[in-house]
Amino acid sequence: MKLCVYKEEVTPLAVNAYIAYDAETGDGLLIDPGEFTESMGRYVEKNRIRIHYILDTHGHFDHIGGNAAARRLWEAPIVCHPLDAPMLESAELSGSDFFGMPIELSKAEQTIVDGQRLQAGSLELEILHTPGHTPGGVCVKIGDDVFTGDTLFAGGVGRYDFPGGNRAALFQSIREKLMILPEATRIYPGHGPESQIGVEARTNPFL
Ligand SMILES: [Zn+2]
Ligand SMILES: [Zn+2]
Repeated sequence: MKLCVYKEEVTPLAVNAYIAYDAETGDGLLIDPGEFTESMGRYVEKNRIRIHYILDTHGHFDHIGGNAAARRLWEAPIVCHPLDAPMLESAELSGSDFFGMPIELSKAEQTIVDGQRLQAGSLELEILHTPGHTPGGVCVKIGDDVFTGDTLFAGGVGRYDFPGGNRAALFQSIREKLMILPEATRIYPGHGPESQIGVEARTNPFL
């Protein structure tokens, strides 16, 4: 397995949408399509990637707005944690109404829970349930890399003041699910630049 990560910053909230795939086989998935862009479609086609899942790390509108469009193009289920699944179908719960940014809603077709291993072709995904930013937030670990959604950022942590947020839960998630990973683990956050677990452990002012 040779993980390749393609990133596009989408929506006015600058969400990182990721296409993660095995460069050896072309098996991959789409993570947090806040918006679906033509360039994502072209990238997948050009690199002959098979998208096995459309995975939302959580149900905020800025991470899910491209679900429906991606789903129309690819035969891949939309997946998220059951506690955030209602957000995918609701302009109110996803925050879309509150921010005044309408999106096309869609349903979660499959749910994922803590510790679950999902096979995206040759890629093995491990789901880490990391509540705190939202009740059903997850991080996705693939080999030595982890996609942290809005749980952990380079130099920051997710907000816990939105509906469903919980400060204690967020810090517990970060401590017990992320900070136990090897220092060299690379993190791909839902916003902003990449980092490493060891770098965050030493320099993140919130931890
Ligand atoms: Zn969020
Ligand atoms: Zn976000």
